[in-house]
Amino acid sequence: ATMPPLLSALANAGRHGVLVKSAVVMERLGQVDAVAMDKTGTLTEGTPRVTAVRVLSAASSDQYEREHEPHESGAAQDRLLALAAAAEHPSEHPLARAIVQAAHARGRQLSSARDFGSTPGLGVTATVDGDLVEVGAPARLLRGAEDAPSARAAAVAGDLEAEGHTAVLVRVNGVPAGVLGIADRLRPDAAATVAALTGLTGTPPMLLTGDNPRAAARLAADVGITDVRAGLLPQDKVAAVQKLEQAGRKVLVIGDGVNDAPALAAAHTGIAMGRAGSDLALETADAVIVRDELATVPTVVALSRRARGLVV
Ligand code: ADP
Ligand code: MG
Repeated sequence: ATMPPLLSALANAGRHGVLVKSAVVMERLGQVDAVAMDKTGTLTEGTPRVTAVRVLSAASSDQYEREHEPHESGAAQDRLLALAAAAEHPSEHPLARAIVQAAHARGRQLSSARDFGSTPGLGVTATVDGDLVEVGAPARLLRGAEDAPSARAAAVAGDLEAEGHTAVLVRVNGVPAGVLGIADRLRPDAAATVAALTGLTGTPPMLLTGDNPRAAARLAADVGITDVRAGLLPQDKVAAVQKLEQAGRKVLVIGDGVNDAPALAAAHTGIAMGRAGSDLALETADAVIVRDELATVPTVVALSRRARGLVV
């Protein structure tokens, strides 16, 4: 017997390293006419590295400049990293893994964290050696804070973001202790994938990210994306997708994180990055990129269109 076109397209997608969960999904892939992509772990490799460690002195900002710029290998830096890493240890977020790896690379033993909590799109909190440690997005942690140390922390974070880093604030017992700069590499096939998806849908994909607007804009420009939505919480990603769908578009969402799961569920079709993707994203998505090649997304969309008898 001849296999129905959609089933043979599904098998073909599997050979390209994309796990499409059903023939219905295989059919829906070819219907999409708009794409929304996550940044960290989706357009980037998802293995970010800590590239700057800025300790905020409890004393004056002058002292901070004198003691810690530009040298960044001191004991205070090691302590800051170890504290942040202890709090981040239970997290599966790519930024958390970068921080833990950096602390280990400096030979630090990590204290164990108690009362761990994480908020998607924001960061983590934990008790480490009796101190309440918060690690996360400076803009969100510092919202409404008007004290001088918070202003200083916001300035340091802004400098790092202007250099293209993702800035991560470390706060101990409510007081800013330092800012980490973290950077990730673009996937080698990111720009080609954006170009192919633009060709298939007629519009460049939209970028939906929880990261800061500066880092997002820089990366978007590098891959050919013009519609950038930054600083988003998981529900903001959902709202952006729903707005497009209400305008009659069939939206393909591509993401990897726990923070992407609601948008993957709200999308006409959701695809998760398999290698670094969170379990929740993998379960929620309609299809999973198993072999970690982003460029297989336009490939499977084209496979579906061909199976449905549409010209690609
Ligand atoms: P993206 O949408 O680009 O994948 P996320 O929504 O996962 O990014 O994260 C958005 C922002 O929230 C990060 O840039 C970071 O500032 C902060 N954040 C989220 N999780 C963590 C974490 N575990 N540790 C530190 N910061 C975090
Ligand atoms: Mg992500």
